[in-house]
Amino acid sequence: MTTSTRKLADLPQENRNLEEKSRIVLVGVPASPGFAMGKVFPVVNREVTVVEETIPESRITTEEQLFLKAVSRTAKEVAQIKEISESRTGLRDSLIFATHLMILQDPGLVNGVLDKIKQERKNARWAMHVVLSEYIDKFEKIDSPAMRDKAADLRDLYNRLMVAMEDSGPALEEVSSSNGVVLVAHELVPSLLMAVKPGQVAAIAMDTGGRTSHVAILARSLQIPAVSGLKNFAGLVKADDTIIVDGSGGMVVVNPNEEDIRRFHERQEVFERQRRELYTMRRLEPMTRDGKYITLHANIELPSESEKVTDFGATGIGLYRSEFLFFRKDAPTEEEQRDAYKQILETMAPCPVTIRTLDAGGDKLVSGISASNEANPFMGWRSIRVCLDREDIFCTQLRALLLANTQGNLRILLPMISGLAELRRAKACIARCREELVAEGHECAEVKVGVMIEVPAAVMLVDLLAKEADFFSIGTNDLIQFTLAVDRTNELITDMFQPHHPAVLNMINQTVMAAHRQGIPVAVCGEMSADPMSVLLLVGLGIDELSMTPWSVMATKKIIRSINFEDVRETVLNVLQMDDAESVNSYLHKKYAQTIRNLGISSFVGQLDK
Ligand code: PEP
Ligand code: MG
Repeated sequence: MTTSTRKLADLPQENRNLEEKSRIVLVGVPASPGFAMGKVFPVVNREVTVVEETIPESRITTEEQLFLKAVSRTAKEVAQIKEISESRTGLRDSLIFATHLMILQDPGLVNGVLDKIKQERKNARWAMHVVLSEYIDKFEKIDSPAMRDKAADLRDLYNRLMVAMEDSGPALEEVSSSNGVVLVAHELVPSLLMAVKPGQVAAIAMDTGGRTSHVAILARSLQIPAVSGLKNFAGLVKADDTIIVDGSGGMVVVNPNEEDIRRFHERQEVFERQRRELYTMRRLEPMTRDGKYITLHANIELPSESEKVTDFGATGIGLYRSEFLFFRKDAPTEEEQRDAYKQILETMAPCPVTIRTLDAGGDKLVSGISASNEANPFMGWRSIRVCLDREDIFCTQLRALLLANTQGNLRILLPMISGLAELRRAKACIARCREELVAEGHECAEVKVGVMIEVPAAVMLVDLLAKEADFFSIGTNDLIQFTLAVDRTNELITDMFQPHHPAVLNMINQTVMAAHRQGIPVAVCGEMSADPMSVLLLVGLGIDELSMTPWSVMATKKIIRSINFEDVRETVLNVLQMDDAESVNSYLHKKYAQTIRNLGISSFVGQLDK
């Protein structure tokens, strides 16, 4: 985390120029389709600013509470990390965390911040910033390695506390009391988006992220138009600016002129017309013209979404990202989880529901569980690694899942598996939880257990994994990220995130072949499932099931119904011989772009030229 500070009166020159309400047009990444126009709601977040405020007396208690809650949340988090560190690396390494805990309990530090809030009437973030910075400065000036280490500890704690205050900060409450605003942020976290109610947020514009960041995925689920990857945009707008967000084309217009507004209405109309047309064909079979059936399932992030997935033409849930249930202050209990899973399973029965076990970490930090200061969070302590280290959390979830499976339509999916040992340990946990529940007198249906193929190591071991898994689901978002070493959330390298890179296509091909040799089905649940050109390739590669944002199912079905399996099979055979993504893309474009344009789904599938 980087934090900068400024006084409200010291706004930089470019911000002051905004008084003139100049028109700004910027192109970014089309993260979630749709169009909206509204007032800018700037979301202050981690990377932006710690502002000095003088607060009225009536706000003192709120600010004190904000700080104290952040301290206790951070202490809880550090204590957990300490425990894990002890069990993994021995007592010595965990002493760092013991030091962190001691600093957090230091009355000088805590009271120093509280005094600043109360006596000097400063807001909590500013008070914390000043007090900790003074401490850090003091330690840094002492010429001793031990003291410099202490300064590093303090900087680490500073970051944790800032994040803890951010997550429960006022931005969220303010959004909750707004209506139809456009969130403009340098970076948004999924947990903030989870807290908004329908109608509160009309659209989103973000500096960071690409199409596969979890905020983008969530925006698509919530049907909120979004543009990401706008780089330095957030600093250019202010609260009452009007903004148009074109999530289908990936463009934003601030303080639009009449012509912009006319074009906006025109495109919005096309979008609505295409949506209505697609809706009329939602009950048709997802079958190619020569009779190959492709199962179309939906990805969901919220249990309530299960109510609408069949209405969009999906015949099951291919991925429920269960970690979204954990975006709250305390982890959900076994009963709370059981009820949430039951809601999905019962709504969907007899259709299959694939629930992925907790995939916390990366860009999905779960309060009280995830480590918040990892240098490489996507490759850090996350996902199945957390679950196998914290069997208390994992088994609570597994018990809840098994108890919720009264209809027998549950499939459990394990994320981030990189080898057989992890799969075996996870399956042993499932078997143990099942035995326990049976011994307690519960009926527990048998459950299929699948493996997400999203780490290159899993592809290298795919034949072995296929022997012990009931199904595969390829997580192309992470598989591309890890295969090409391209951070999926980094807007500076969006162009390098290439789904059609030969390495990626070969990995998918190997996975499908191994799965079919072993007689197990293979799905794709990453964002490739909803990209038209990728859909052609995935069908040609022999994928059995595609799972995607519910409302992408309709456009994907239209694509599948327009193609011949034999033709895309031949395309794949040609493409697998090619040297680079550019050759694959231009071949696909030449062969299929016009056909796809003729389908009338342009508002939903974005640019075809990627
Ligand atoms: C993936 O990695 O492709 C996937 C579906 O999982 P997530 O996007 O949640 O990481
Ligand atoms: Mg993934």
